[in-house]
Amino acid sequence: MTHSPAAPPLPDGSLDPDDWTDLRAQGHRMLDDMFDYLSTLRERPVWQPAPAEIRAGFHEALPRAPSSLEAAHERFMRDILPYAVGNAHPGFMGWVHGGGTAIGMLAETLAAGLNANLGGRNQVPVEVERQITRWMRELFSFPEAASGLFVTGTSMANLVGVLVARAAALGRPVRRTGVAAQATRLTAYTSACAHNCIAQAMDITGLGSDALRLIPVDGDFRMDMAALRAAIAADRHAGFQPFLVAGTAGTVDVGAVDPLDALADVAADEGLWFHVDGAYGALAMLSPALAPLLAGIERADSIAFDFHKWGQVPYDAGFILVRDGETHRAAFDASAAYLSRETRGMAAGSPWPCDYGPDLSRGFRALKTWFTLTVYGADRLGAAIARTCDVARHLARRVNAEPALELLAPVALNIVCFGYRAAGHDAAADDRLNAAIVLAVQESGIAAPSTTRVHGRLAIRAAIVNHRTAPADVDRLCDAVLRIGAELAAISTPEPQPIP
Ligand SMILES: *Cc1c(COP(=O)(O)O)cnc(C)c1O
Repeated sequence: MTHSPAAPPLPDGSLDPDDWTDLRAQGHRMLDDMFDYLSTLRERPVWQPAPAEIRAGFHEALPRAPSSLEAAHERFMRDILPYAVGNAHPGFMGWVHGGGTAIGMLAETLAAGLNANLGGRNQVPVEVERQITRWMRELFSFPEAASGLFVTGTSMANLVGVLVARAAALGRPVRRTGVAAQATRLTAYTSACAHNCIAQAMDITGLGSDALRLIPVDGDFRMDMAALRAAIAADRHAGFQPFLVAGTAGTVDVGAVDPLDALADVAADEGLWFHVDGAYGALAMLSPALAPLLAGIERADSIAFDFHKWGQVPYDAGFILVRDGETHRAAFDASAAYLSRETRGMAAGSPWPCDYGPDLSRGFRALKTWFTLTVYGADRLGAAIARTCDVARHLARRVNAEPALELLAPVALNIVCFGYRAAGHDAAADDRLNAAIVLAVQESGIAAPSTTRVHGRLAIRAAIVNHRTAPADVDRLCDAVLRIGAELAAISTPEPQPIP
């Protein structure tokens, strides 16, 4: 009888190392590399396109055999880190992205080590999340009965807001019957400048994005209150059931803040749920200088916002705060035997976070938020937020002082929309030129602006969200736009034609 050669022994099931010494040393090197990255950001391009062969390297077959942690780390440093979108870099102004902090990174590492599941149960990590809720109640002057929940981002927080508003309007049975069983159709209201995720929330909840009325804005891109009242009246007349108005604190394109106090009045008069999408702007409440701009937000029924934008907490850390925690819970709680509650032991401590949203398994987003608020303190975070607005005003002054540049929207907070104007160009040629300037500036690695449309014109958009961005960084953006604009305009401007 022949024996086949012995197969190599399978390791036992555990994924832990036999010897922690090497792992510890390698872990310290990995941490050091990230400290180096964060402390030398300015020496790197903001962004650079990834070579095709690096992308191709991520089309490998599933690795069956192990390989070393050192090799994977090396690969990260070489093939991944240099080709991220660059929002940690002070020159990143393209979209409303937070910059993150080293403190947040360390806290995230601790959370990953603990591997806590924040769905519920009797554990202090859940208490940390409740601490954040209590702090947010305090910040927004919400009552004791208010509830809060971490979610991925404001897209999800707005969805939760719409679901709570729907349950408030139709009562608990709608969770069984669905909206199709309703005789009258619910309608909601937001501004024409609101983020598209509100329409998406209407879609996902089955209410339909057609039932979201986009109310025109005034010259400052704020929702027009007369138009809002007229739209509600017209819908009532037509047999619809208005249920929700969503104001925005800091629109994504120009940073406008809807007149929140007036919106609260309309919502009170009309019996509507008043939701605020404060994705990045709500945390302006941390700055005593900026907080008055949000007057009225304390009257909201629910506020959706992100700690990962102006709050500088690493991705992701969205949050929803609801004035009436019971209404919030009634929109989500469920009974299942495996989720039953006790008054002692590990199943105590009800209600749990999973009673307030669609997620059951949830990470410890609260920890990096707790560390950020604790270590920096609310005042210093508020000062960092206020400084981004100062830097935006610096950029706006610079734009106004340059004959070739034009400011395209008022600067309410931290977003500057402007354009390069070439002599002899019509609007369409200017739009093409500005789009080309933005691509060239992005590819230069000097700065990362984006584009948006303001009154139909293509605008260069600089959103100053990162706490690292200084006046010198927006000057560099400005210089690059002027230089590249002049170069491109020289190529694209047609020769003057003889007058026939
Ligand atoms: C960023 C943003 C959102 C979406 O938030 P996410 O965290 O990206 O899901 C919604 N509304 C506004 C005004 C935003 O700026």
